[in-house]
Amino acid sequence: LVRLRARLSRSQTSLGKGLLTLLSRERLDDETWEEIEDTLLTADVGVAPTQELVDRLRERVKVLGTRTPEDLRLLLREELLALIGTDADRSVHTANGIGNGGDEIPGVVLVVGVNGTGKTTTTGKLARVLVADGKSVVLGAADTFRAAAADQLQTWGERVGARTVRGPEGGDPASIAYDAVKEGIAETADVVLIDTAGRLHTKTGLMDELGKVKRVVEKHGPVGEVLLVLDATTGQNGLVQARVFAEVVDITGVVLTKLDGTAKGGIIVAVQRELGVPVKLVGLGEGADDLAPFEPEAFVDALIG
Ligand code: GDP
Repeated sequence: LVRLRARLSRSQTSLGKGLLTLLSRERLDDETWEEIEDTLLTADVGVAPTQELVDRLRERVKVLGTRTPEDLRLLLREELLALIGTDADRSVHTANGIGNGGDEIPGVVLVVGVNGTGKTTTTGKLARVLVADGKSVVLGAADTFRAAAADQLQTWGERVGARTVRGPEGGDPASIAYDAVKEGIAETADVVLIDTAGRLHTKTGLMDELGKVKRVVEKHGPVGEVLLVLDATTGQNGLVQARVFAEVVDITGVVLTKLDGTAKGGIIVAVQRELGVPVKLVGLGEGADDLAPFEPEAFVDALIG
């Protein structure tokens, strides 16, 4: 928790403290509630969730006799947790699947998202977590759009001890993804992580490409997880991206990167609403250790101190 707090940006934690300070005012007049609303909207919580939270807080504060700092902290904690949700399955599904031939095949994870959001870095960090957990991992460098992506992924692979399957520059992403799973099966690896390309400006191209990657991989067997990587600093733009990707492929989890550099953590709430899938991992920096499971309790505690 201390580590999480240290890595969330100062502006992020001051968001939680700011809310507490506002709630602690002697007179909770309409103006103060508006300020609370603005604080939430600025953090990208989104209009409907903000309204819900403010309504709930107003209602609950009304029935509180006294408003001790501890009362308010607990109340805000409960309501933020209710908004984020504590019941979702936030584990990344990397278990073996049953291949189309009836044999076990590695767990397959597709990592999708717009270039620049931190897809390749996240794939590398995730490989590191899995290897540390005793799993053997094969990486598929299917981002053939960004020239340096395959090198970058391979460097991660070498660092953590995972083989990287790559193709010629500008090669067919689907065939690289297919080969990566084939390699994973041949090596009896535990998990195959596939980094893909995200060119949002050509939506139909992206649709064709990502859909094809998934279909081709499914010739081997099921895809266990499709992780959408979103950059938390892009705010509402990230939501637009999420919508487009969700049209192309069934997203099963979200990775929110660069939470260390923004006060806009509210995007967690907004994106979960938008997609109906949980945030599973958060990126808290550029380093190898800076990928963490998303734990609502720890996050909220770090937020409000
Ligand atoms: P891709 O194009 O989506 O594969 O993006 P990259 O993985 O190359 O990442 C783009 C930039 O974002 C790189 O400079 C990464 O180091 C940086 N990055 C990725 N994740 C995080 C994060 O959680 N926090 C911070 N601060 N930077 C990150």
